[in-house]
Amino acid sequence: MTYTQPELPYDADALAPVISQDTVDFHYGKHEKAYIDNLNRLIKDTEFEDMDLEDVIRTAKGPLFNNASQAWNHIFYFFSFTPQGSDEPKGELRKAIDRDFGSLDAFKKAFEDAGAGLFGSGWVWLSRDQDGKLLITQESNAGNPMTSGLTPLLTFDVWEHAYYLDYQNRRADALHRLWDIVDWEVIESRY
Ligand code: MN
Repeated sequence: MTYTQPELPYDADALAPVISQDTVDFHYGKHEKAYIDNLNRLIKDTEFEDMDLEDVIRTAKGPLFNNASQAWNHIFYFFSFTPQGSDEPKGELRKAIDRDFGSLDAFKKAFEDAGAGLFGSGWVWLSRDQDGKLLITQESNAGNPMTSGLTPLLTFDVWEHAYYLDYQNRRADALHRLWDIVDWEVIESRY
């Protein structure tokens, strides 16, 4: 199997000014393309070639894990956004947010703080466990909570390449602005 990079469901300039066209072009167009190209090269003629990508992430180590997980993480990240923004989360996900974090605002603050406080490169995640309980976790580098048996719902990329063109060293500002473009209908559908 050869992985192909899906086209984004919005134009490259559509998320500006939260995420500029330059950042989408470099981050999705070049960084993500490189992860997918590396993934294809690393699985070729191996036991991983016809394995589901999620299973590759759960079982591979080293460069294959890094590129497989980064390939998956970036699609998950970029497909969480909508140029128009969206209404607040509703339904079962909203109930779980209020139950596990107290309020939507308290959840957003905790999520931003976890992302801003992650040392070096990585991702901050909202996931659910098998009982539907929500957890915020920090993962370094290519890390993904699937490897801990959790179901990912939302992630913000805190690698510098995700925000440096637009926000330079102001990671906390970059994360705070992302709420304006999160598509909560997509996040709800993952719960
Ligand atoms: Mn990235």
